Amino acid sequence: MAKQEDVFKTIVAHAKEYGFVFQSSEIYDGLSAVYDYGQNGVELKNNIKRYWWEAMTMLHDNIVGIDSAIFMHPTIWKASGHVDAFNDPLIDNRDSKKRYRADVLIEDEIAKIDDKINKEVAKAAKRFGESFDEAMFRQTNPRVKEHQEKRDALHERYSNAMNANDLAELKQIILDCEIADPISGTRNWTDVRQFNLMFKTEMGSTADGAMEVYLRPETAQGIFVNYLNVQKTGRMRLPFGIAQIGKAFRNEIVARQFIFRMREFEQMEMQFFVRPGEELKWFDFWRQTRLKWHKALGLGDQKYRFHDHEKLAHYANAATDIEFEMPFGFKEVEGIHSRTNFDLSQHEKFSGKKIQYFDPELNEGYVPYVIETSIGVDRMFLSVLCSAYEDQKLEGGDSRVVLHFPAALAPVKCCVMPLVKKDGLPEKAREIQHRLRFDFTCQYDEKDSIGKRYRRQDAIGTPYCITVDHQTLEDGTVTLRHRDTMEQQRVAAADLESLLRDSVSLNSLLKKLL
Ligand code: ATP
Repeated sequence: MAKQEDVFKTIVAHAKEYGFVFQSSEIYDGLSAVYDYGQNGVELKNNIKRYWWEAMTMLHDNIVGIDSAIFMHPTIWKASGHVDAFNDPLIDNRDSKKRYRADVLIEDEIAKIDDKINKEVAKAAKRFGESFDEAMFRQTNPRVKEHQEKRDALHERYSNAMNANDLAELKQIILDCEIADPISGTRNWTDVRQFNLMFKTEMGSTADGAMEVYLRPETAQGIFVNYLNVQKTGRMRLPFGIAQIGKAFRNEIVARQFIFRMREFEQMEMQFFVRPGEELKWFDFWRQTRLKWHKALGLGDQKYRFHDHEKLAHYANAATDIEFEMPFGFKEVEGIHSRTNFDLSQHEKFSGKKIQYFDPELNEGYVPYVIETSIGVDRMFLSVLCSAYEDQKLEGGDSRVVLHFPAALAPVKCCVMPLVKKDGLPEKAREIQHRLRFDFTCQYDEKDSIGKRYRRQDAIGTPYCITVDHQTLEDGTVTLRHRDTMEQQRVAAADLESLLRDSVSLNSLLKKLL
């Protein structure tokens, strides 16, 4: 097994052991691809959401928020295209009775060839050392060239089949590549079929029967159908944006990689309404603005990359993903899409209501164009968790597991600890904790040795530990221990608020965005 896979398994186990993420309904053997956030997870998640919300609504005069309902009129999903086209191509293996996404099977096959190429390149880089010219090697090495040609041909055939919605061709690619079911090992595949990802349920009951409704598969449509309400009541002038955080539901066929692909998840979406013709300028603006938001967290600039879409949805005229390097490779965390006026026009058509903006400068009315930024809270959580995790070897053969969360996102900001459980130290420590809890999430811990208590806080990523000892009673000073450096500093207890505030407050992050 690849080392990175081991690291990922360890992170998943750590997330459970320390109250970040639990399998949903675990005592009933779990519900696949559904997860619950524990006592530390919910704090981290809330901090991520707050960072996004405040960056959107507080730092921009022209962005406001809403909170729309999960249930919406079913015609909305007809208008948006989800009823007819929100599908994944699926294929079953007759022997294992397992169901797969045909596109994922083929993409995995392409990734395998990429791996082979990368291994050749890495081997050669090691052999040639500093003088290695990677671009030249890729162009000239016969083995790499052969793999590359095979990969490009497969990729082209796959893209064509996906673009043409040619399900028979997708199956043929799977057969031609001799892709076997990882469980049964056989190639006994059914035909490829389309599978709609929306969950359906029924609302109310009338004489004619109940109305079929959907759990929303994205939060965006709740924004589009409220465009007029917000524009009119907020007297908004273009360009302006509407932000929303909320749950979305997709009946994902293949749920993989922990909270990366879930059936119930949370999105943070912002739709930015602009004048037609100005959308690509704003697309570029949001592409840069969103990357800056990610990078301000300090998880490592090299861990991000853009993936511009070659294949655009029929309504889009530009699209890019911000990908983050997870332990299982670079993966989409956020999508930025220039959606033209497709959604608002569709709602105009299906609802029969005029959805237009009267532009006082141009003295004309039109349906605004839209730039969307759409990020998954859970994927963001996963990227923060994975990049924070370190199994650190310490001097003297000791080790510790530490989560280097950005301090502003850490679930607990500080923990106050009396050195011993006597001599009035617990009372003093409680007094300090009760003062600090008005400003920070602040814990109190008096159990076990001080070393063990530090380790417990390291494991949940608490940036500061405050130790109260006998000297505290004499001169009012405490020991402030820093999580990342493990450095200890003697400071006046009275100064704690001002010492901590700058580094743990969201403002420190938000100020980097201006
Ligand atoms: P993917 O290609 O990975 O399925 P997508 O392109 O369908 O993602 P979008 O519809 O653009 O995703 O959704 C916007 C964001 O919502 C994604 O960037 C991702 O962060 C999040 N997201 C989408 N599907 C899921 C899911 N099943 N579980 C968790 N997060 C998701």
